[in-house]
Amino acid sequence: MTTLINPADGRTIGDVPDTAAEDVAGAVQTAREAFEQWRDATPGERARVLLRLADLVEGDADELTRLEVAETGKPAAVFRDGELPFAIDNLRFFAGAARSLEGTGAGVLSKGYTSVLVRRPIGVVGSISPWNFPFIMAVWKAGPALAAGNAVVIKPAPRTPGTTLRLAELFAAAGAPDGLLQVVTGGADVGQALVTDPGVDMVSVTGSTETGRAVMRGAVDGLKRVHLELGGKAPALVFEDATLEDMAAGVVMGATYNTGQDCTAATRVYIDRSRYGEAVEALRDAVSRVRPGDPWDEGADIGPLISAAHRDRVHGFVSRASGRIVWGGTPIDGPGFYYSPTLIADADQSSEIVQSEIFGPVLVAVPFDGEDEAVRFANDTPYGLASSVWSADVSRALRVSHRLDVGVTWVNDHLPIASEAPHGGVKGSGFGKDMSQEAVQEYSVTRHLMIKHAAPQARDSFRPA
Ligand code: NAD
Repeated sequence: MTTLINPADGRTIGDVPDTAAEDVAGAVQTAREAFEQWRDATPGERARVLLRLADLVEGDADELTRLEVAETGKPAAVFRDGELPFAIDNLRFFAGAARSLEGTGAGVLSKGYTSVLVRRPIGVVGSISPWNFPFIMAVWKAGPALAAGNAVVIKPAPRTPGTTLRLAELFAAAGAPDGLLQVVTGGADVGQALVTDPGVDMVSVTGSTETGRAVMRGAVDGLKRVHLELGGKAPALVFEDATLEDMAAGVVMGATYNTGQDCTAATRVYIDRSRYGEAVEALRDAVSRVRPGDPWDEGADIGPLISAAHRDRVHGFVSRASGRIVWGGTPIDGPGFYYSPTLIADADQSSEIVQSEIFGPVLVAVPFDGEDEAVRFANDTPYGLASSVWSADVSRALRVSHRLDVGVTWVNDHLPIASEAPHGGVKGSGFGKDMSQEAVQEYSVTRHLMIKHAAPQARDSFRPA
């Protein structure tokens, strides 16, 4: 049993039972039966169900907002006017992508044979999602897998199951086969039961790097395909020709959006030493304007952290930080788990505050001398998910971007994403792409059908030239 707590006021919302191991196996079995029907649905049929789902989600905005806000504490306006419409756009994109799976083709590749290449679904996908963007993550997990013709059993994070459970109800109402998208609830043990279930053909997880390792280990015996979206520690590189006011607004938004509980959050800002003082001033002004508040207060920029334990963890990082606290650095009194937006300057590159994922509204500034050092600092963490480059010089921005070991680099901005663009990292941030046509490809395999249509001498074509 997991007790759900509203992070904005610390009150209990209710209890959610954890799915028993035998019920995880039952869900996988039911998903497999549904898969047998869905794999033969035409791309057009799959697309129609996903488009109906998108419409149902749109019509359910109030209830989805109520659930997501209660469990995460994020500002209602941020979810209702930003994340939810984006998730709906994702679903409509996946519906379209279902109809244009790449990799199909045909050819006479050997004498006397016709080859046909088809993309087919993988089977039952076990998906595991985190608590920071529960609804978007459920859509990123289920959408491409279902579009490609798979069945999905998804386990949301224990604290935030509400909108994922709701998504599965809406999916059933959209006309999908019974049991095609199922939800199991609970923590790491339920996640492992799903990963190791022999009826699961592929596992997909978004979570911390440590969880990614545990999931990969669980998938080893079954040699299952693994899709990992893990932690991040995104750098923002500020060159001497950057417009500091725009940079400060963009980097602080990138650092504090979703109270910094974002794998792509701007967490380390590296600034050319010639403008370091000015830039830190501009960042301080921008951080001081970020307003934490009640999620239902339209003026709130950010909500609380997810839990009291997580707030302690964030504050622990800040208390141990090298450098000086320029702004914030304290928990905010009150019933919820609020933390002040925080700017730390002059931190050491090798210190914990620069190297570890904090997952709170904490931005750390470090000066650099020259482009090579900026790139070296940026690449010097175990992660490789996101980054930004701030410069008026397009050539430099491109040159630096190509030297960063990350999945995404924004130039003169930090955070925007699009349904058509793949999202995913390298190094300790995992592998696999969410969104875009690439995500749909990842949940499918290429099969080669080779059809003989001529006499046996056609085998000559196998001889080396
Ligand atoms: P977490 O790793 O604690 O949990 C993620 C999910 O994995 C949860 O559902 C959890 O119950 C489950 N889980 C935990 N241990 C498991 C195990 N041993 N076996 C199977 N399942 C297990 O992460 P979190 O605290 O929920 O989310 C924050 C993390 O997610 C951060 O590290 C963040 O960077 C990452 N994240 C990454 C992306 C991305 O796209 N790369 C997006 C969002 C969040």
